[in-house]
Amino acid sequence: MNEFIPFALPDIGEEEIAEVVDSLRSGWLTTGPKTKRFEQDFGEFLGYGVEAIAVNSATSGLHLALEAIGIGPGDEVITTVHTFTATAEVIRYLGANPVFVDIDLATMNIDVSKIEAAITPRTKAIIPVHFGGLACDMEAILKIAQKYQLKVVEDAAHAIPTTYQGQLIGSLNSDVTVYSFYATKTIATGEGGMLVTRNPEIAQRCRIMRLHGINRDAFDRYTSTKPSWYYEVVAPGFKYNMTDVAASLGIHQLQKVWELQKQRNAIANYYNLELANLPLHLPAQPLHQDTHSWHLYVIRLDDSVKVSRNTFIEKMAVQGIGCSVHYIPLHLQPYWREIYNLRTEQFPCASYAYEHIVSLPIYTRMTALDQTHVIEMINKILN
Ligand SMILES: *Cc1c(COP(=O)(O)O)cnc(C)c1O
Repeated sequence: MNEFIPFALPDIGEEEIAEVVDSLRSGWLTTGPKTKRFEQDFGEFLGYGVEAIAVNSATSGLHLALEAIGIGPGDEVITTVHTFTATAEVIRYLGANPVFVDIDLATMNIDVSKIEAAITPRTKAIIPVHFGGLACDMEAILKIAQKYQLKVVEDAAHAIPTTYQGQLIGSLNSDVTVYSFYATKTIATGEGGMLVTRNPEIAQRCRIMRLHGINRDAFDRYTSTKPSWYYEVVAPGFKYNMTDVAASLGIHQLQKVWELQKQRNAIANYYNLELANLPLHLPAQPLHQDTHSWHLYVIRLDDSVKVSRNTFIEKMAVQGIGCSVHYIPLHLQPYWREIYNLRTEQFPCASYAYEHIVSLPIYTRMTALDQTHVIEMINKILN
């Protein structure tokens, strides 16, 4: 058992370390052969026709995606209120406005029955977030998008590997899907992300805007037959490229993606079993034998529980267990609340959830003893 069971820990093996060392010795630190290989592997992982573009974060990827689909000043983009601020801030980068929708309390994902009421003549896109690694109701979302001619950009920061109706998130019929490889995510490169799309125009625009609006990336520039100093700037782009050091981690993390999921799934099953008879609401299970990535395992304290959520987390910390809260919904954050005049009553489910949710540790390096300790302490606090 660890002295303190942290909330999250990456699982970095010798393969990752050797690959990083190889990059360091190669002399090529930034976007180059490792990034290219990671993109190729990622495209193959998702299947035929999916193009993968490596970026330095999911935030960058979401920004690039919205820029590429043509989001601009005054446009509206519908998303969930129960997410990390990155999902919504990228909309503001482009002068557009997020329109927040409440969640379904059972799944914690966007309540699809409330999306149509949020659509106005300015609405251009929807950003569903697969909260915790459980797929949103994509059939309903894609249907609404088609009906109103809206684009769909999936925030898949939690969703590798997640399936929906047997298909991996990232291979559905949305316009763009973006993953995060932030240190705490299911596969980690420290900082990093991947944008995937089947649309060649979106892919080309994202590749260009990823690196200063230059029409060839640095690696091509130094290996192609054109003079190495020559390049063309076609737009005021960004600096969002992934380094080969990060890609070195990503290549091996991706190879383990199913194995790591299997280990988290086993922890989720153990929690499901051991917590079943307590006054808690357990996370929703995927439908139709789909895969839940189990990035997060979020329990909700029942109204009958005497201790507050905050006290619960404090008591767990005293017992050496790191818990967290995902998320403080955006309508309670000063910036979002003030700029859009958001009120608690507009988001009854997200507001209620926020008062009662606790994210338990779920990561591959947790030992069996760690897991037992978590269960024992929860029992002790609730009884
Ligand atoms: C982590 C996260 C992001 C941002 O990812 P970065 O790679 O850190 O930019 C976006 N959306 C959600 C839901 C996240 O959890």
